[in-house]
Amino acid sequence: MSLLRTDKCPYCERVMKRGSVVSTRHRLYWMPEGGKMPSFAWNTPKGGVPLGTYDIFTGGEVDAYYCEECGKIVIEV
Ligand SMILES: [Zn+2]
Repeated sequence: MSLLRTDKCPYCERVMKRGSVVSTRHRLYWMPEGGKMPSFAWNTPKGGVPLGTYDIFTGGEVDAYYCEECGKIVIEV
């Protein structure tokens, strides 16, 4: 698991909870606004940024920090 340079929330500066965002079946992507998922799940969406790791049996997972105060999640790509 990689680490951000700091575990402090960039909005409120409180300590965030370390964890991950997961998908049980598919790779996770960030997509630009208006982007569409490709017809085939194994293709990268246009302009998409793959996040974290992917395994055919366990799905996708990316390290993430969660701020309970702000209700925000920070993901390092
Ligand atoms: Zn915060």
